[in-house]
Formats: sequence, C-alpha cells, structure tokens
Amino acid sequence: MNAHHMKRRVQLTAIAATLLVAPIVSTSTVTAQAASVKPSSSVLKKSNSYYRKHAKQLGKKYKLAYNAQTGLKKNGKAVVYVNTKDPNLKKSVKLAMDYWNHKLGKKTFTQGTKKSHTLTFSVSNAKPSKNDNSDAWWTPSTKQVQVRKYYYDAAKQDIGVAMTNGLNDSFYHQFAGTIEAQAKAELAAKGITSSDKNYSAQFNETAQKIEESLPEYATLKSRVAAVEKSVAAQGRMYEYAGTIAHEFGHVMGLNHSPNKSDLMYFESGTNKVNSYSQVTSSKGLKVYNPVTSTDKARAQLALKIYIAQHK
Ligand SMILES: [Zn+2]
Repeated sequence: MNAHHMKRRVQLTAIAATLLVAPIVSTSTVTAQAASVKPSSSVLKKSNSYYRKHAKQLGKKYKLAYNAQTGLKKNGKAVVYVNTKDPNLKKSVKLAMDYWNHKLGKKTFTQGTKKSHTLTFSVSNAKPSKNDNSDAWWTPSTKQVQVRKYYYDAAKQDIGVAMTNGLNDSFYHQFAGTIEAQAKAELAAKGITSSDKNYSAQFNETAQKIEESLPEYATLKSRVAAVEKSVAAQGRMYEYAGTIAHEFGHVMGLNHSPNKSDLMYFESGTNKVNSYSQVTSSKGLKVYNPVTSTDKARAQLALKIYIAQHK
C-alpha cells in the first residue's frame, strides 16, 4: 500500500542533497594516521611559564588559534551580549553557553548587556554566496558571533519536513501491512476482486477508512500538527544551540578538529534534531551535550594558555 494520506511537504530533495555532500572518507586511514588533538591530563597541569614558553608548539599540535581569542577577559571568560529578539534563538545561545559551562565545570560563558560584554551574538541578513555560505561564524576583529538568517529560516522548514516524514514512515512501517490485509479482506467479503475495473480506487477508499479509524492515526495527525506549531522550531532551537556552541569553541581559540564526532569538526551537527521523539522526550535532546572529551580538553588548554599569556 503506497497511499500516504498525510500531506507531505516539499523540499525532500533539499534534505537528500545535504546528506549527499557529506565527505566520504575512509575511516581506517583517518583514525590510524591522524595525530590526536586531545591534550592529555598532564599537558593540562603545566605551569603558566610552561604555557607561555611552549604556546606556539602547543597551538600547532592541538590546533589552537590564539588570534581568534579576542572575545575573552583576562581571566579567560566570555560575556555575551545576545542581540536578537527571537525567543528560540535566545534559548539556543543560552543552551550553547550551558553546554560548555557544564563540561568545563565553570561559568566560562555568561550573559552580558549592550553596555557590558566581551562579544556580541546577532543575526546576519547577508545572503549566502558560493564563497560565503556558512550558517554561522565568529569574527575575531569585530567580536561577533553571527548566524545567517537565510539558513536559519530554511532550517525550520527542513526540520519540519524531516520530522513529518519520520512520523509518517514509522506509522506506515507499523500499520501498512495490517491496513492492506484488512482492506483486501473487506473487499473480498463483498465479492470485489482484483479483476474488478474499479478495484484500485475501491481498495484505496477502503484502506483510507481503515487507516483513519485507527487510534494511532489520530496520534499521528496531532503530532504532525504539533510539528507545524512548535516542534520543528524546538528542533531548530537544538540545532542552533549546537551551531552556536561550535562558534563559541572558536571564540575560545579552537580551530577545527579532525574527528567527526567532535563539536569542533568543521561540519558538526546531530540528526536528533530531525526526530520528533528526540526533540520531545525527556531522554532525548534535553540531556544531550555535543561537547566531547576532546573538545573539552582542547578548550581547557586554550584557556590556560590564554590566561598564562595575559597574566
Ligand atoms: Zn567552525
């Protein structure tokens, strides 16, 4: 049975396309040969004079960018002025700060005001181009973390499509067989067979009635409505929390990590934001934190070196 009675939204191709552009890398060669960028616990326990003396080598080995550390106070803390009125984006920024603060075990990121801050978060209206198509960035010279409105707006639509498709797929995966068998049986009981010229139309009509009588169909409908109303926006809130947390990693002086699982990988992100259950359940994204142990150790080192150099 192929009839999908719930309306699917457009842009399926856009989602497929983003999946296709992910680089295909042989994991065996990458994991075997890439030098680790995770500082050991002993590297994290050196003296300030050691950090000052070896800053250059450490920066090279652990992929640190000291010239990006323009948004930090002398004590290594960042005070963020959140210059947006979008309530979901405000939540994303708050969550991004929490991700790092929880992992680092201290309040490295706090919220500032227009008058008192070390960096600003805002939305950019710049349209993407071939050479400038990031969804977010950190500009050390102007001390600004920005997200691009163009992609931010599109993200809600994309997440809504993926979520709705996921809900539809799991519904049909679970019930298509039962519905099909029941529809066939009902038609057979009326003496209607597949040689009947209207069979296909009658089958679809019967199947639809059976489908709509299922209590799970009502659940599906209400969830799809919830996606439109709020859950897609909630998924995007989580997606941008990760995106902004990645930029905050740059603020602390982290260059990109070669490890795909790290938040500081050049294109980090989780598919969980496309899942209705992950976004709405208490065990899903509510307890998720994209900062890995490698991200954490690199940030600790970057901040220690920064503090040593600014004493
Ligand atoms: Zn980046």
